[in-house]
Amino acid sequence: MAEPQPNQMMTCPYNKAHQVEHYRMHYHLQKCRKQYPGCKKLICPFDSTHVVNDVEMDYHISVCSKRILLDSQMYVVDDDYRPAVEVQTASVPGPSAAGEENWDDEMTTGYKPDPLKKGPHIITKIKGATPSERRKARMEGVKNYRPPEEEK
Ligand SMILES: [Zn+2]
Ligand SMILES: [Zn+2]
Repeated sequence: MAEPQPNQMMTCPYNKAHQVEHYRMHYHLQKCRKQYPGCKKLICPFDSTHVVNDVEMDYHISVCSKRILLDSQMYVVDDDYRPAVEVQTASVPGPSAAGEENWDDEMTTGYKPDPLKKGPHIITKIKGATPSERRKARMEGVKNYRPPEEEK
C-alpha cells in the first residue's frame, strides 16, 4: 500500500460525490461523519484508543500514527534480530544456558512489536463497554483486522 500523497484526491468514505485532498480528509470527515451518526464503530488494530467508523478504517489506517510507528519498528527490529535467529537454528556452541535465556527474552520482546502482536486482543479493552458490546466489537475487529504484511 503506497503512502498517499498529501494532495492526492480521495473519495469520502461516506459519500462518493465528495472528492477531498488527502491532507484535508481529516477535517472533512469531522464534518461529514456527523451526518452518519449510526455508523458502526471499529477499534483501530494498532491502538485500542482509536475508535473509528468502519467506513473510515481504510483512511485511518493510512494515517494512523501507531501504524507508522510500528512500520519503522518492524524494519529496525527485523534487521536487528536476524543474527539471533541464525545463532539459534544453527546451534552454534556457546554459553548455552545464558545464551538461550537471553534469546528467549529477545524473542518475546523484540521479534514483533507487542502492540501489533496483541492486535486482536487490545480490542477487548474498550472503556465503558458492556461485556457483550466488547465481545461484539472484538468479533468485528478481528474480522476486519488485516495484518500489514498482507497489504504490501
Ligand atoms: Zn464526505
Ligand atoms: Zn489508529
